[in-house]
Amino acid sequence: MAGIPGIFIFVIGLAITIYSRIVYMQTPEPWLNIFFYLGIIFIFWGIVKMILSPSKRQKDVQTFQEEKQNTKKATICPRCNARNFHYARFCMMCGYRFQ
Ligand SMILES: [Zn+2]
Repeated sequence: MAGIPGIFIFVIGLAITIYSRIVYMQTPEPWLNIFFYLGIIFIFWGIVKMILSPSKRQKDVQTFQEEKQNTKKATICPRCNARNFHYARFCMMCGYRFQ
């Protein structure tokens, strides 16, 4: 159920809850409460899903921040200005030995 967005589950839950209440008002049958509680479960499930799954925008921001951090960690070669991995011991472009 990973492909279903939280808001969709939330709306379905809300619809089931409201609809079961309307039906219950007209015909008060005890088994209609099952639908009512099912709707409540769907609402909570939808909310939890919305909170837990970060939106695409948040993911992009996260990726950007990670990239920024990696750039900070990068070692710039003093001889040829090449960007090297922060853990590199030698420059991959010119072979300069980092301290
Ligand atoms: Zn270099």
